[in-house]
Amino acid sequence: MSSLKETITCDACPVLCRIRPDRTGACDRYGNVNGVLTRTDPIVVAQKTVDDKGKMVPFLARDWDGQLLAEAPKFLTGIGTGTTYPDYKPAPFIVSSEHEGVDMVTVVSEAIFSYCGVKVKIDTDRFVGPEQSAVRCKGEQIGHVTTAEYGSQMLALGGVRHLTGGSKEEGVATCDMLLALCNREAVDLKVDDGAKLTIQAGKAPVINDVQEERMRVGCGSATIGMFAKQWLGHADEVIVVDDHITGVLTEHQAGRFLDIPLAGIRVRGYKSTAGRYFRVAKPGTGWGGTDVQDPLVIIKSIDPKVARPGLRLFMVSTTGEDAEYFVLDDDLKPTPAPMPEPLKKVVERIGENCEPALTTVLYMAGAGGSLRAGVTENPVKLTRSVRDALTRVTCGGAPVYVWPGGGITFMVDVTRMPDNSFGYVPTPALVSPIEFTLRLDDYRDLGGHMDSVTKLEEVVTKPGVRVTEWYRKNPWPWSIPSRTQPTEED
Ligand code: SF4
Repeated sequence: MSSLKETITCDACPVLCRIRPDRTGACDRYGNVNGVLTRTDPIVVAQKTVDDKGKMVPFLARDWDGQLLAEAPKFLTGIGTGTTYPDYKPAPFIVSSEHEGVDMVTVVSEAIFSYCGVKVKIDTDRFVGPEQSAVRCKGEQIGHVTTAEYGSQMLALGGVRHLTGGSKEEGVATCDMLLALCNREAVDLKVDDGAKLTIQAGKAPVINDVQEERMRVGCGSATIGMFAKQWLGHADEVIVVDDHITGVLTEHQAGRFLDIPLAGIRVRGYKSTAGRYFRVAKPGTGWGGTDVQDPLVIIKSIDPKVARPGLRLFMVSTTGEDAEYFVLDDDLKPTPAPMPEPLKKVVERIGENCEPALTTVLYMAGAGGSLRAGVTENPVKLTRSVRDALTRVTCGGAPVYVWPGGGITFMVDVTRMPDNSFGYVPTPALVSPIEFTLRLDDYRDLGGHMDSVTKLEEVVTKPGVRVTEWYRKNPWPWSIPSRTQPTEED
């Protein structure tokens, strides 16, 4: 038995810190309390004080003071529970509870993930940097720009190569960045040959010190399709400037359907199909995610056989943030003119139809050896059970998407997890909560650690437990998994 004054060894990760009395180890997650290795953060229990229909759980005629309510449904999250390292021991908590007349079990732990990172979606058309460019934090490469999606730029950050495959500085910068992003803090990044970024999960991105407000309504072609009818009679030509597809109304199918005659104004770039042009300008932070500040620079020619003096030309970006109105003079030169009210209204409507620009952070990790062995003596059975949808995987109670194929590789939206769900160890790696929920008899069948099953109520009523409100948008993990499996035909 260890004495109060004895230095103890923490075996919760490969660092094996020697911890003196009343001190904590390198990650601050474990301490020496009276000679006993102790997890320093409280275990987090999420309880439902509001049911699925939005009704408050009755509180026995008293106000809720943030404490545990005997009447409220509860879920034990992995936050603060500790890890299964080094592999052979059951998960820290395996709790059972009856739901809808069925005995269920949740296997709860924190997992150390070396194979982990985040996929970041930044709702903007503005150029953040060339695809594959290095993304840096504190000067170290911690990820790269990856394939853009519709209306959004994408970053792939972290991952095992940056965490453990480079220099110590690179690993530390990567781990710090991941920890901050996953705990929903703001992080400053710089893209090689690209923008300076400040990103935070659930918040608007800041690109080169300018806060982004709107996500584009669609590409230039889609914008033409959406608003062509509302421009009819108020402009003779509309050009929607966009880094992906710039739309030209009179050439576009929408213009042809409305019998709008050609205007003879030709834009630069490569014609894809009627009224749809690629690469009218370079990517940038100007109109529609291009480097254009003056929209007239994208006009290549004006055909005197088709165009005429007095022709009304309207140019707008895909967010409506930039818009200008011109009238062709006697030399067929576009001359700025006051924008008619009906066009101003459509500009406002484009803005109204743009969704707010947000930063989305999806944490992605692979559940490996120690974690699965903490659930069952036959780890591959857990993988199969997850694949068969008999076992539900959650992170701090938040639903995850499990990738098809081998292993348990999952993604989770960090904004659906409780505050400060993530920790780290200096190997370096991230520590995140994970829970596996299934029927108790299915757990027995997959070789679960039945001797370690305890009652949920015994754990959640322990002193020092932190109670948090259940995030209502998350599905309730205790709902009973169906045993009906999809067939090949499905
Ligand atoms: S880094 Fe943390 S988890 Fe790892 S041995 Fe030290 S105190 Fe324990």
